[in-house]
Amino acid sequence: MAPLHTSDSIPLNFEAQVIAAYGRHLKLRDTDGVLRDARPFGRKLQVVCGDRVRCASDPRHDEVHVLEVLPRRGTLWRSTLRGGAEPVVAQLTQLIAVLAPLPKPDPFVIDRYLCAASSAAIDAIVVLNKSEIEVDADLQSLLDAYTAAGYRALRCSTRARSGLEDLRAALIGQTSAFVGQSGVGKSSLIAALLPQLSITTGELDRDAEGRHTTTASQLYDLPEGGALIDSPGVRDFAPAIETLEARSLGFPEVDRLALQCRFHDCEHLREPGCAVRSAVDAGAFDARRYESYRRLRRLYQDLRAKQGPGKR
Ligand code: GDP
Ligand code: ZN
Repeated sequence: MAPLHTSDSIPLNFEAQVIAAYGRHLKLRDTDGVLRDARPFGRKLQVVCGDRVRCASDPRHDEVHVLEVLPRRGTLWRSTLRGGAEPVVAQLTQLIAVLAPLPKPDPFVIDRYLCAASSAAIDAIVVLNKSEIEVDADLQSLLDAYTAAGYRALRCSTRARSGLEDLRAALIGQTSAFVGQSGVGKSSLIAALLPQLSITTGELDRDAEGRHTTTASQLYDLPEGGALIDSPGVRDFAPAIETLEARSLGFPEVDRLALQCRFHDCEHLREPGCAVRSAVDAGAFDARRYESYRRLRRLYQDLRAKQGPGKR
């Protein structure tokens, strides 16, 4: 390696947190709070918002390279189409699944996010935004099923400015990310929670051609302590199968009921003596959530098959 010259202000080797990621363009914050632009070193290195990383600066090119991602926790992993695992965002302690009366909720997407969270030991809460709009019976039973599963459910409206204080309180001291369908109001919620927002990342909001883009993930500090990661939604999000708990796939209800299944490796589909199916028949486990479980189980089996026998 050629001798490196550097100004005092740029340490050659340092640790930092990724506070914004737009593709391979990263914004880092080092331990002194200094912001720097960086890129992952090498094409294989996957770096996501929230990651804690080890970096080196190359003053010859005025560049910072991320050399290594420090051990991750609180990572949301998604499945690629071929069954691989890809990180979406890291260092989360809490996932906020946002839904609204409009657009009509897709419960399967919400459930998959919730399963990914529980499989990564990330707490999850469900937030109904646009609560000033009437909640119909379907939506009410959806919310009831989440409460029965054990999730905390909050209601708020950025338009009516109601329920926001409870949400704000739930964010204190946590690193949270909002997920949910496009149009449910995630950006509006972030703007309501961080009114002074025109900060930090600037040029990352635009791509090389200067087009405005919202595909960047960004981390914002909350004034009360804690942080919020604004991460683009993943269409058809599916949790990475390696991360899923094999018996319950991350459904807390299934996790509780499975203890009473006749077979310890019961998949809760057609096996005799399945306590999960009995609970559905008895109305004790929400049939809609069970259908979601079945779909995720089928996806899990399909992706396992694609990975091939070597990876089973
Ligand atoms: P995102 O795609 O999840 O980030 O959603 P946006 O924050 O862009 O909001 C989508 C639309 O919902 C916008 O037109 C917002 O003005 C609207 N919206 C956000 N919050 C509320 C709310 O509390 N009530 C109603 N009625 N509309 C809202
Ligand atoms: Zn079972």
